[in-house]
Amino acid sequence: MEGLVIKSTGNWYQVKLADGEQLNCTIKGRLRLRGIKTTNPVAVGDRVTLERVPDQPAGIITDILPRHNHIIRKSTKLSKLSHIIAANIDLALLVVTIREPRITAGFIDRFLVTAEAYHIDAALVFNKIDIYQPKDLKKLQQWSDIYQQAGYPTFRVSALTGENVEQVKAAVAGKINLFSGVSGVGKSALINRIEPGLELATGRISSYNEKGRHTTTHTQMHALAIGGYIIDTPGIREFGLVEFQKHEIAERFPEMRRYMHACRFHNCTHTHEPECAVKQAVEEGKIPVSRYDSYLRIYNDDYLDKELWEWE
Ligand code: GDP
Ligand code: ZN
Repeated sequence: MEGLVIKSTGNWYQVKLADGEQLNCTIKGRLRLRGIKTTNPVAVGDRVTLERVPDQPAGIITDILPRHNHIIRKSTKLSKLSHIIAANIDLALLVVTIREPRITAGFIDRFLVTAEAYHIDAALVFNKIDIYQPKDLKKLQQWSDIYQQAGYPTFRVSALTGENVEQVKAAVAGKINLFSGVSGVGKSALINRIEPGLELATGRISSYNEKGRHTTTHTQMHALAIGGYIIDTPGIREFGLVEFQKHEIAERFPEMRRYMHACRFHNCTHTHEPECAVKQAVEEGKIPVSRYDSYLRIYNDDYLDKELWEWE
């Protein structure tokens, strides 16, 4: 039997079968051993094989099918153990606004780089368009152009009036979706427009006990009436955790990917080298200056592969 893990409590998992039936499952010991470097071998979004416990609405997860992607966080800042938050995410949506609270391009770019590192498709949702002034609309147009040209779908919505929310609904239907955004951008309001009545924990800051450890291992996916799911985890701000090397950063910028093969040096860092095709593309206006600036700022963060990126 195969199923989809839709809830994880740390001790047991809720698995949805193809016919909609849901079983409370434990995992087989051998799987626990495989996840030796993680606190949890199985996460929401995982497709698993399972055996039914006779005469009970319960099962035992026997194997995990290959993942397209997964997002993790360190169990503690110093720990070598990581916690898998979710797997097989189809779309990561970053909800931002140009007014109240103002978001920087650098913040958006770090999110997109992280999504690229995790191999997750990303989209931007500009919310609160009902309060944008002419200068905000000008900026909205500039940013939409930049990110659409980079290949990221962008939406302009008002969760308040409902304007264009249908477009976001169409983009998330049938998919496993992760919504991110700093508090105040209207993420809850938008999710409520998409699925009225959902009361998600996404805006909440995860709880720490007195030792500063994460106590929340609880994650679940909420089914949408239009098909698909929204992942709900209090640890969502740790989407900023990435583990990759400096030389990989340029590849996380789709615009840079288009030019970097033409640099004179195969190991060009696109910072100071002569005959750098990336820098030339920036000078010619083919790569937006703000995106290149973000590249430099991320490149110069030397704690990249060790630490959490804090979002707030
Ligand atoms: P969250 O912290 O991202 O979940 O944000 P909320 O959904 O709680 O919204 C934060 C504030 O922004 C609330 O006062 C909302 O009423 C307001 N808000 C949300 N969406 C919109 C919108 O599209 N337009 C306007 N004008 N206000 C909005
Ligand atoms: Zn270069």
